[in-house]
Order: sequence, then C-alpha cells, then structure tokens
Amino acid sequence: MKYLFPPPPVPSVPVLGRDEQFPLRRIFCVGRNYEAHARELGNEVNRETPFYFTKAATHYVPSGATVPYPPGTANYHHELELVVAIGKAGFQIPEAQALAHVFGYACGLDMTRRDLQATLREKKLPWDLAKDFENAAVVSALAPAAAIGHPARGKIELKVNGDIRQSSDLGLMIHPVPGLIAHLSRFYHLQPGDLIFTGTPEGVGPVIVGDRIEGMIEGVGEIELNINAEE
Ligand code: MN
Repeated sequence: MKYLFPPPPVPSVPVLGRDEQFPLRRIFCVGRNYEAHARELGNEVNRETPFYFTKAATHYVPSGATVPYPPGTANYHHELELVVAIGKAGFQIPEAQALAHVFGYACGLDMTRRDLQATLREKKLPWDLAKDFENAAVVSALAPAAAIGHPARGKIELKVNGDIRQSSDLGLMIHPVPGLIAHLSRFYHLQPGDLIFTGTPEGVGPVIVGDRIEGMIEGVGEIELNINAEE
C-alpha cells in the first residue's frame, strides 16, 4: 500500500498499570444525562431516550496537556464526565450483558464552545462546531474494569484554579451505563476502541487563558487540563 502522504498516527489512550495503549476508534457523547445540568442550560429533561453527538478521535488530548484557547469562541466551557471504554464488539447488546463489553473507565472533559452551541441549538442546526473541534476530547488514563469494577455511583468533581465548579454523583445519571450501551448498540456495531462520554453534571462554566482544570471521579481517577494563549 502506498499513501499519497504519511497516514496520521492512531490516537491512543494510556492504560493504568499496563504498558499497552488503548487505540481509539470512535468517540460518542451523551447529551443531558444529569437532570440538574439539563435544567441549568434551560433544557427540558427527557428520561425516555438518550441522544448523542460525536467527536473525532483525532481531537483526543491526554490528561495533563496544555491546550490553546480554541478559535471562534468567547465562552469555552468545561464538562467533566465519566468515560466508558468499549473492549468487546457488540450489536443490539442486552442491558444485562452490557458491562461485559466494557474494558474500563476514565475521566473525560467534553470541552465545549458554549456560545456556538447556543446559537446552533436556537437554529436547530447540528452541534459539530460547538463540540467536535481540535483538543475538545480530553481523556485520562483508562482504569481497567478488571481492576476497579463498574462504578455506578461515586463523587464526580471538577475544580478550576482550585475552586470547586462541578460536584455531583455518578448515581444521578438519568441513563446509567448499561442502558446507554444497550441503546447505542441498537444504532451502531460497537467495537473495541470506542469511547462513550456519559454526560456532565451541573456546574459547567467558562475557562480562560491561564486556567488550570482538575477533575476527579471516585474510584476511577483524575484528569487535568491547562489553557494556554490562543494560537
Ligand atoms: Mn457533555
């Protein structure tokens, strides 16, 4: 096989306690999965059906990175989320078997250009410009489920420059992980390497140049991101 130019490297996430990386395939993100967050952005709470958007795997950045303030926004927001890493392929997965498809878990930051999202939402247009941009998918090292189990509750907390901005509990998800995997796998053949960002609790807000974001999820791990000057 000859390529016109060198193919880009496969983005991959470190795995705690292993010297092997988890290669990324797709990044699915769940919207409005905590009631208090849906309400803080002025949305109706829908308990019936989850909805999704996606981010390109090439927009992944590891925890600890320093990223430039993104272009095209004046309201760049943090969203701390539990991330599920799929390790076993499946289609139309029954909820009772869903967790057998999970390799592990991580902390994630679904970085968002909130002003663009608000405009797009008003016009009933897709959210890509608001959600799927460079460096917008921050993921910590993966904690294998074999080591930590399957966290269904536990503290999820984010600080900016040491001040707590988001503090909630995984147990408050409207659609918990098994139901998300069952639902999403009705529409996609899930594959090893797929990630699912499971939605953020309330307390989302802006960050500016020079800010340092630190997040933690009890029993899962920690994540960090630093915001640098615009490029
Ligand atoms: Mn989110």
